[in-house]
Amino acid sequence: MKKKIAIIGSGVVGCAIARELSKYDFNISVFEKGSDAPGGASKANSAIVHAGYDDMPGTIKGKLCVKGNALFSSLKEELDFPFERNGSLVVALNNKEKNKLEELFIRGKKNGVPNLKILSREETLKLEPNLNPSVVASLYAPTAGIVSPFGYTVALYENAIKNGVNFYFNEKVERVVVEENRVKGLVSNGKFHRFDIVINAAGVHSDEISKSAGIDSFYVYPKRGEYFVFDDAIGKVVSRTIFPAPQKDSKGILVAYDVFGKIIIGPNSELIGEKENTETTREGLSEVFNGAKKLVPSLNTRNIITYFSGVRAQPSTGDFIIENYPEKAFGFINAAGIKSPGFTASYAIAALVRDLIKDLGIEIKRNKNFNPIRKNIPRFRDLPKSKQMELINKDPKYGHIICRCELVTEGEIVEAIKRGAKTVEGVKFRTSAGFGRCQMGFCGPRIVEILARELKLPLNEIKKHTENSRYLLRKTKPN
Ligand SMILES: Cc1cc2nc3c(=O)[nH]c(=O)nc-3n(C[C@H](O)[C@H](O)[C@H](O)COP(=O)(O)OP(=O)(O)OC[C@H]3O[C@@H](n4cnc5c(N)ncnc54)[C@H](O)[C@@H]3O)c2cc1C
Repeated sequence: MKKKIAIIGSGVVGCAIARELSKYDFNISVFEKGSDAPGGASKANSAIVHAGYDDMPGTIKGKLCVKGNALFSSLKEELDFPFERNGSLVVALNNKEKNKLEELFIRGKKNGVPNLKILSREETLKLEPNLNPSVVASLYAPTAGIVSPFGYTVALYENAIKNGVNFYFNEKVERVVVEENRVKGLVSNGKFHRFDIVINAAGVHSDEISKSAGIDSFYVYPKRGEYFVFDDAIGKVVSRTIFPAPQKDSKGILVAYDVFGKIIIGPNSELIGEKENTETTREGLSEVFNGAKKLVPSLNTRNIITYFSGVRAQPSTGDFIIENYPEKAFGFINAAGIKSPGFTASYAIAALVRDLIKDLGIEIKRNKNFNPIRKNIPRFRDLPKSKQMELINKDPKYGHIICRCELVTEGEIVEAIKRGAKTVEGVKFRTSAGFGRCQMGFCGPRIVEILARELKLPLNEIKKHTENSRYLLRKTKPN
């Protein structure tokens, strides 16, 4: 009989583990309390594939960041998601900061980061002419990249489903059931489900899940980071990700050009009380703007189109907690406290979790039907004219533009719904509709209509993302 595995959480870590384990002959279920993948921090972060010079040598984070970064090239080949290795620069604005670059350089070398280089002022400004002219030097990491956090997570999710994984949404796991030091299963939405192995990838809530399994050796603190996003009109003021010299407890406020062609700035770092408080604040956002302006002085508020925040899962141990517990809770595995660079490290974390299952003496047999290939939804606006015509001839919905800012067609939106988008955010994450200047002012109502039509639901059942985020409540005028 196949071993039954449950994964708690469909953030990037849960989805990477699901996809990696689908290569083997297991019966895998993912329980997610939200309505879609990605949830949690995986849908609101800087979306940088870090090179790996930030973390201390010898830490799990440091090791898995460099490993995870390297895996992105083959993952992109297999799973076809937006990713570009455009490099990053840490810039020093004075000689004291220059010393920090040297520290990072040595740390990066120890961690195994390839091709790191310290650049002079002239070399730095040649690469990025819009940087603060006071720059004295920079640390250049050509292996750093940018990724679509939604695109990558959804790609893992779709490929895991294709290879037999079951995802259960709106399922809140209350506790893991461990009896006589062995996992028996879990309780979700009040119902017991039997499992041989339970993997905890519950982000900011991973300490609570772990505690329910009898492992209470750490806490997770929520640390919020806020961002601004700029309109395309601002132009490509930077082509690489620009970091300041490192701050006490974070990589500092960055300026980046993202895979959607937008300039993004942030995040600040604020310890907060509530684990899921993704509000933005005047103070936080002005800290972000002032921090970014130190790096790129030409930034101005006129071109800002939106702001958002994400919450980091800061572990009390200071490092990722990726462990099994053969003595205390056989079959329970933590992938907990996955703060930055968790997105970068995600696939290396998944591989480590697979090895932890092996270490329990559980037989791992190949899934003979595993198919590693997944294709993205065609991005109409980026296709050559001949391919666009081919798509329209096959399906006229590709000739109907719904999102005018990002030029997203009805064909792409319908395809996203066929692949599992159930909410407006689900469509947005899969197609980029609504990412542009008008922020859904134009396409929002049309996407609601298309969702209602395709899902055969009344209009007032269509949600933004969570169960209680309905767009339309009732008719305000008679017909
Ligand atoms: C501001 C910010 C910037 C960052 N920038 C970067 C970056 O540039 N590069 C990088 O590599 N990393 C970055 N990170 C870190 C990265 O985003 C995280 O490490 C990664 O997303 C963590 O993924 P996860 O799957 O562990 O957690 P999450 O994405 O939070 O997913 C956990 C999931 O578990 C679900 N869940 C929780 N409790 C339960 C329950 N009881 N039952 C069922 N489901 C449950 C949640 O709904 C959620 O979907 C950043 C993070 C933040 C917040």
